[in-house]
Amino acid sequence: MALLKHIPERTCVVCRKKAPKESLFRLYKLDNGTYDADIEQMIEGRGIYVCKIDSCLAQLVIGSGKNKKGFKQVPVDPETVTILQDKLTQI
Ligand SMILES: [Zn+2]
Repeated sequence: MALLKHIPERTCVVCRKKAPKESLFRLYKLDNGTYDADIEQMIEGRGIYVCKIDSCLAQLVIGSGKNKKGFKQVPVDPETVTILQDKLTQI
């Protein structure tokens, strides 16, 4: 039997779907309470993860309180979301 490497899974803050962390974007919390993109997933601190799909990223920028599933608003600078959406088109 082949040994499978354990792949750490993370949950998207928007849709709550679990996925290997390499397939999600990571954001980390800044001192001012908002989140910034952590493209290399190397920055220490409280991180959140979001799917590499536009519909989940768009939820971050709208931040209109809670969505249907009770997701809490995540304060992300629209500029940060734009950076991530740019990454999206490169995949
Ligand atoms: Zn998602």
